[in-house]
Amino acid sequence: MDLIKAKELIFEYVRRDKNGEVDGFKRAIDGISLSIKQGDFIAVLGANGSGKSTLAKHLNSLLHPTEGVVFVDGNDTADADKVWDIRKAVGMVFQNPENQMIGTIVEEDVAFAPENLGIESDRIKERVKESLDIVEMYEYRRSTPSKLSGGQKQRIAIAGVLAMHPKCIVLDEPTAMLDPEGRRDVIRAIRALNDVENITIILITHNMEEAIYANRIYVMDSGRIVMQGTPREVFSHVEELEQYRLSVPQVTRLAYDLRNAGLDIPPGILTRKELCEALCRS
Ligand code: ADP
Ligand code: MG
Repeated sequence: MDLIKAKELIFEYVRRDKNGEVDGFKRAIDGISLSIKQGDFIAVLGANGSGKSTLAKHLNSLLHPTEGVVFVDGNDTADADKVWDIRKAVGMVFQNPENQMIGTIVEEDVAFAPENLGIESDRIKERVKESLDIVEMYEYRRSTPSKLSGGQKQRIAIAGVLAMHPKCIVLDEPTAMLDPEGRRDVIRAIRALNDVENITIILITHNMEEAIYANRIYVMDSGRIVMQGTPREVFSHVEELEQYRLSVPQVTRLAYDLRNAGLDIPPGILTRKELCEALCRS
């Protein structure tokens, strides 16, 4: 069974004027069908306004389809009785970790969600420890969240979601506000969740370098999925991506330019190592 399935999803925001009267509709999702399996690592790419966040909000019942359906773990997201099952299965992490902090010390913050689920306190302790271990933040368990760096805060936010034992985590541009080091640590944590814990990852990102770890990329434009495939497949289409106002990883771009200059290099190079090997052979 697919963990997440969308069929012909359409979503329109209602626009209202200053008197609250309906003034028009903005179609943000325009016919998306997709299937995501347990253990998948999906990256979603797309320019600003292409509908990525709107899609993400459909995956844990924050928004409901205008047309079409979304199923999460077999539950229809429009079914009000299933909202909590859905939110337990799919956790969300947003761009700004500050907005997701609740506790005054790290371990309280991470314990918040399982406490709300009514889990007994010994089990909560275990969950807090295991979640902080996975994101490599256990040594900070007694720290004040506001004193941590952006990357550390974001890893605490991820631990808070992890403590609910979700099947899937949707991360909406989790590294956008971070410095390179914070970004690297957050991406390392996300990869561990997928590799070690087999948690399904849906990573929305502007950073092409982060998308190479996915096993599948969806490219969005104007509320539609316009390209999909493995990172190698998608990043082989440099010009098509440019049409959607997207770039490719730096190494991929360099390899593409060298190939256009006549060197014998295959398309879709993703890492420096691959480029070096291709250059040695050419
Ligand atoms: P992305 O996350 O890819 O930047 P969004 O899903 O936020 O895109 O937005 C998709 C489209 O929907 C954009 O045109 C945006 O302006 C519009 N939109 C987003 N949120 C709202 C809202 N609350 N009301 C009206 N339009 C919205
Ligand atoms: Mg967005």
